[in-house]
Amino acid sequence: MARRRMVYEGKAKILYEGPEPGTLIQYFKDDATAFNAQKHDVIDGKGVLNNRISEHIMTALTSIGVPNHFIRRINMREQLIRACEIIPLEVVVRNVAAGSLSKRLGIEEGTPLPRPIIEFYYKDDALGDPMVTEEHIVAFNWASQQDIDDIISLALRVNDFLSGLFTGVGIRLVDFKIECGRIWDGDYQRIIVADEISPDSCRLWDIKTGQKLDKDVFRRDLGSLADAYTEVARRLGILPEGGNGKRGPKLVH
Ligand code: 5GP
Repeated sequence: MARRRMVYEGKAKILYEGPEPGTLIQYFKDDATAFNAQKHDVIDGKGVLNNRISEHIMTALTSIGVPNHFIRRINMREQLIRACEIIPLEVVVRNVAAGSLSKRLGIEEGTPLPRPIIEFYYKDDALGDPMVTEEHIVAFNWASQQDIDDIISLALRVNDFLSGLFTGVGIRLVDFKIECGRIWDGDYQRIIVADEISPDSCRLWDIKTGQKLDKDVFRRDLGSLADAYTEVARRLGILPEGGNGKRGPKLVH
């Protein structure tokens, strides 16, 4: 059997050439990294959980008309995605102060923000992903003003949808990061959501207890990352409850 061609290897995922032109296979690794890969570990099962959680979220986004790269899951660790031209930006949406915003501006973690705040970071490991403004993005040709407007509108739709989805299962969506890409429909360019949406790229706090259910568990040594991600998957109804085979979101009142 011919060995398939690797297109890109990142810290948590590998991209392989897909079965048809315009497709790729996205493989989820168990590797966890933080602080620009200065902290690294392998967490058994993390890739499987993120593959399933990202599938669940991207499928739900498709159902409400938010364009994204997901086509279908192939197996435990792989999904078929649409190839796109990745825009070299991390788009962060924040609802509650935490992480780098709290550090930079001295706002206590957990303070609700008066409105969702969108930030852009230039994807460059060597520079440590610096925060950039729309001026930088347009001036350096990473994206046009029209692209930025489309990205903001996508990011806000994802935020509204995910906030509701997670609130329904007793989880507060504090913030998250998405990446976007360009695809071409004939002569028309469209911006779509790419990469992954999982507890690796979101801050998720239990609404009642404040317990962290995201990658901060790894970043801050707060316990088992696999347990936290399993809890997110269980609440979203991705993992069967109690082995009775019944699936569905677990509503938390
Ligand atoms: P912060 O800027 O506070 O460190 O991160 C804001 C949000 O974006 C958090 O949910 C965090 O997980 C996500 N985020 C920021 N940078 C990255 C990154 O390089 N990789 C991943 N997976 N998530 C990130």
